Amino acid sequence: MDGDCLFCKIIDGSVPSKKVYENEWVLAFEDISPAARVHVLLVPKKHFADILAPNCGGYAEGASGASDARYVLELHRAIKAVVELTGVAGSGFRVIANCGRDAGQTVPHLHFHILGGQPFGEALL
Ligand code: AMP
Ligand code: ZN
Repeated sequence: MDGDCLFCKIIDGSVPSKKVYENEWVLAFEDISPAARVHVLLVPKKHFADILAPNCGGYAEGASGASDARYVLELHRAIKAVVELTGVAGSGFRVIANCGRDAGQTVPHLHFHILGGQPFGEALL
């Protein structure tokens, strides 16, 4: 928990959000300024500044970094849950994690944009 972090405040409920999916490890909520018909933000409940921050050096129980690796695993699992819940699993979707200045990351709490509900063509990638 980072007291100054917007997404930590969304996780603790002090800032409202439209929840899409939640479990012990992650929260998914609608982006306030959607860039697609489906635009969900998926965040770990532990504060990591960006996609480089989790320590995934060890996964075995008790190994250094094990708990961070669990967050990464649960984020991956939750992508599947979110695309199934929002109905875009079959039609396709895009997952984006902005990291740092050049990518234009504005909220320094690791998050995945899950975008779908329309064809994207080759506009971005
Ligand atoms: P990024 O630019 O990758 O850091 O993405 C941050 C995203 O957070 C943007 O797409 C914003 O629209 C979104 N955002 C900012 N404030 C909120 C909020 N209060 N609730 C939901 N999404 C938000
Ligand atoms: Zn945070």
